[in-house]
Amino acid sequence: MTEWEYAKRIIETINTHGGEAYIVGGAVRDYMLGTLPDDIDIATSLFPDEVMRLFPKSVPTGIDHGTVTVILDHHPFEVTTFRSEGTYSDSRRPDHVSLGVSLEEDMKRRDFTMNAMAFHDGNVVDLFGGRMDLEARVIRTVGSPYERFNEDALRIMRAFRFMAQLDFRLDDDVQRASEALGHKLQDIAMERVAIEFEKLLMGPAYRKALTAILDLGIHQYLPNVTEPLIRRVIADKRTPINPVGGWALFVYYADAPDWLTPWKRSNALKREAAVLARLFDKGLDTFTIYETKTETLAAYLDMSGRSETAEQLKRQLPIQSRQELCFNGRDALHIGARGPLIKQLLAHVERLVLERKLANEPESLRKEAERWLRHAEKS
Ligand code: ATP
Ligand code: MG
Repeated sequence: MTEWEYAKRIIETINTHGGEAYIVGGAVRDYMLGTLPDDIDIATSLFPDEVMRLFPKSVPTGIDHGTVTVILDHHPFEVTTFRSEGTYSDSRRPDHVSLGVSLEEDMKRRDFTMNAMAFHDGNVVDLFGGRMDLEARVIRTVGSPYERFNEDALRIMRAFRFMAQLDFRLDDDVQRASEALGHKLQDIAMERVAIEFEKLLMGPAYRKALTAILDLGIHQYLPNVTEPLIRRVIADKRTPINPVGGWALFVYYADAPDWLTPWKRSNALKREAAVLARLFDKGLDTFTIYETKTETLAAYLDMSGRSETAEQLKRQLPIQSRQELCFNGRDALHIGARGPLIKQLLAHVERLVLERKLANEPESLRKEAERWLRHAEKS
């Protein structure tokens, strides 16, 4: 069964129990564009407890917002009760959400016309001209962009993100409202801004979206982003294949390994972006191939126009990890190494094996280890 067929089954089950249900949001947009959606979201007139009663495998993943995750044969679907959002007093989160409203109300709260369509039984419910805007390849808000960006400034970053992903342009009013209200992005949790910005960097038209960000002055409200920095990233010929690659371009041109810190992405991502930026500078050698994570190495190879895969390069190494070394901490203790010498000894042996100066076999590693240890203890 395809994802669409599972979604249909959920909708039919809800219908037989007297509820309305539709496929909504990004999945409808992607369907009309002829692309496969990442995930299919469903909106329904039923309340969360009613949804949970209909589907034995369901999890209340966002009950405050009316969301239940229904699982069919291990495939998860978010099923959300039609809702409207109350006033936004802080440009971030609605003060309250109301469940039990109509489909129309639910569509009205959505950000862009292309994201505010519903699909049911072969019919598209399109209350705000989303289909027309898709055809014209233009990003337009549901209602006044000033009001909608005032309510939730994250929508500004989302507009640029969709621009990059779809290669669409911004409607004139959306441009003006972004320019006027861009400063409100500073009130949004950085994690949420960063996720949209990262999606932007992964979009095929990211250079166009970054140029628009610059033209409308939005970069001023993004941490550590300056006009020259964005210009360098736009001018760079390399196209990132994964988030590490995208962020690394900024780290590289900013020439600051800590550049990513205020964006509040994971420490792992921050570390890998810094590693990749260094590779851009220094190139590869045996050690960096050995030490660099496959994903990071893959970004480096692709962005440098090299056709080998990360796995191929790693496979050519004498060992893939320290676990494969025929000499470990226990062996080091056994020959009498103690304290910090243990770590140094292991690093020394590992280096020789990687450089192919020593075969990875117990006897020769132990002999070299003993020689090194005698020498180290003397000095
Ligand atoms: P993707 O394919 O990247 O998941 P998407 O359109 O599904 O894109 P989501 O962030 O998953 O984007 O949001 C799902 C839907 O929820 C959107 O299509 C839109 O209708 C609505 N939505 C999401 N964020 C907002 C927001 N900040 N303001 C208004 N509506 C939103
Ligand atoms: Mg989605």
